[in-house]
Amino acid sequence: MLFGKHINRYYVKHLPVLLLGIVALIMVDYVQLIVPELYRMVINGMNKGEVLYEGAMVPFDINFLLDKICLPLIVVILLMVVGRFIWRICFFGSAIKVETDLRGRMFDRCKDLSQEYYMVNKVGNMMSLFTNDLETVQDCFGSGVLYLCDAVMLGGLALMKMTNMNRVLTLLSLVPLSLMLAVGLIVGKYMTLKWEERQAAFSSLSDFSQDSFAGISVIKAFVKEGKELLAFKKLNKDNEKVNVEYVKLSTLMHISITLLIESVTCIILGYGGYLVYVGTFDAGQLLEFFGYFNSIIWPVMAIAELIEMRSRGKASLARISELLDAVPAVVDSENATDDRPIAGDIEFRNLTFRYPGGEYDVLKDVSFKIQRGERVGIIGKTGSGKTTIVDLLLRTYNVPDGSIFLDGRDVNTIPIKTVRKYAAYVPQDNFLFSDTIEANIAFATDGGGEEEIVRAARLADVDDNIREFGMGYKTVLGERGTTVSGGQKQRISIARAVMKNAPILILDDSVSAVDVKTEKSILENLQKERTGTTILIAHRVTTVEKMDKIVYVEDGRILAVGSHAELLSTCPEYRRMVELQRLDDMENGEGGQN
Ligand code: ADP
Repeated sequence: MLFGKHINRYYVKHLPVLLLGIVALIMVDYVQLIVPELYRMVINGMNKGEVLYEGAMVPFDINFLLDKICLPLIVVILLMVVGRFIWRICFFGSAIKVETDLRGRMFDRCKDLSQEYYMVNKVGNMMSLFTNDLETVQDCFGSGVLYLCDAVMLGGLALMKMTNMNRVLTLLSLVPLSLMLAVGLIVGKYMTLKWEERQAAFSSLSDFSQDSFAGISVIKAFVKEGKELLAFKKLNKDNEKVNVEYVKLSTLMHISITLLIESVTCIILGYGGYLVYVGTFDAGQLLEFFGYFNSIIWPVMAIAELIEMRSRGKASLARISELLDAVPAVVDSENATDDRPIAGDIEFRNLTFRYPGGEYDVLKDVSFKIQRGERVGIIGKTGSGKTTIVDLLLRTYNVPDGSIFLDGRDVNTIPIKTVRKYAAYVPQDNFLFSDTIEANIAFATDGGGEEEIVRAARLADVDDNIREFGMGYKTVLGERGTTVSGGQKQRISIARAVMKNAPILILDDSVSAVDVKTEKSILENLQKERTGTTILIAHRVTTVEKMDKIVYVEDGRILAVGSHAELLSTCPEYRRMVELQRLDDMENGEGGQN
């Protein structure tokens, strides 16, 4: 049983099913306790030839055995089977539903959280939330309710029957059982702490493994397998250490419980035997009492199990709650209601920006304008702030009011989704999904006609390459599919963005891995086909020199804005960069990679 604001609602939602499960459980518990009475009658019947039945002594013969022992036993067994089936379906079924719903809510939250969150919480950690932690919470919800009800019902009924038979013997049996509960509570507390450490160690291990698998080519190229293995071994050892500590505590708990249960058996046999000896009990009654005690073992163990399970569940639920309660750092401002379409006029006005937690301003007093339909190149050295400029335009981070304008409207007055709806972006990492090429290209349009897909691929100059793959546009990419080259990846990403047909197209260093001829062809295609605003980030002047306008960035400042010819004559820094790049090209012989 687990409580918390994110889980309470499920008890209410599944109340009818849980109640049905509880009714079935009560029925099973009730009929189960008829069995010790049957034991008594059989033993006493065999010993004395007659038994006490409904207040009177009746002969113990074959008819009695069949009618009053075997037949009720069959009914009891049938009821127990049906009842157990019902409560299992009710408890475990609703637990699975809770897990599914919670997973949906977690995923929903994940998609709203901003980049900042993912910089702190790595993929491995997120994966363990969605696997280990979720499973633990599910387990706690289903089995937790079951254990609690069973402990109360079966334990209560059996205790009542035991007390009716002999109070002293019941009290003596209860002493070790109370000790058992105390051990469960104390050790359970330490187990919660260890469980948290265990989950954290597992997350670190997952993070590291995920990083290593993603960067396997780098590790191999730098022959750093040994170093990685050592680092992995350390994390694996840490993980082992906290797991062993957890298992030690868990074993301590189980051994104490077994010990205490065995001591109750000794008490019943010792004191119960004495009662038989003095004639207070007969052999059948002792067996009946033992039968009740046997039924009570499980509920008491269930309480201990419940304590342990709850400790784990609480820790896991706390981690899940942290995710569900995480507040997205970048959200619409209160006055973001302007949902009109965006045509593509862009203005940056005196924007100074520092990354959250950063120590210096990455952009300083940035101001420039782009008219709708213009083709603009943003150029500057690596780290000068080019990606930051477009990231801010797409509202990946918060910007001050009055610093970015779209169609003359402050970007903070426009809902974030609207801004992104009217922009198509080719990010630097060119991430492609493990899906068919056509699904990747049509990603923004949720499908889209074949003709459109081919048109976008042609525009990105990748149609010929795609047709060379065995399955053409149906070729599956990624982990379980075909691996494409860096240049092909870039061009498929460009096709995906072009397919969106948005008024603003942003390409971040998107032609860096293609050869000069292909780059030229893509840029010409874009010029011919596109009517909207196009922003192309590059670090080679040759990529942007034919653009309508070039924004030259150096160290977070805009040093010049204008055509290539204008910048050459007005901006000495730009001229110097052009000359250096030209010299570089002459030395290396012009060309690119594919
Ligand atoms: P460019 O695209 O010109 O290579 P960026 O805009 O990516 O440059 O980066 C500009 C500066 O901002 C760099 O110094 C970089 O280290 C820093 N930077 C980029 N992203 C972040 C981030 N998420 N948090 C803190 N600093 C960042």
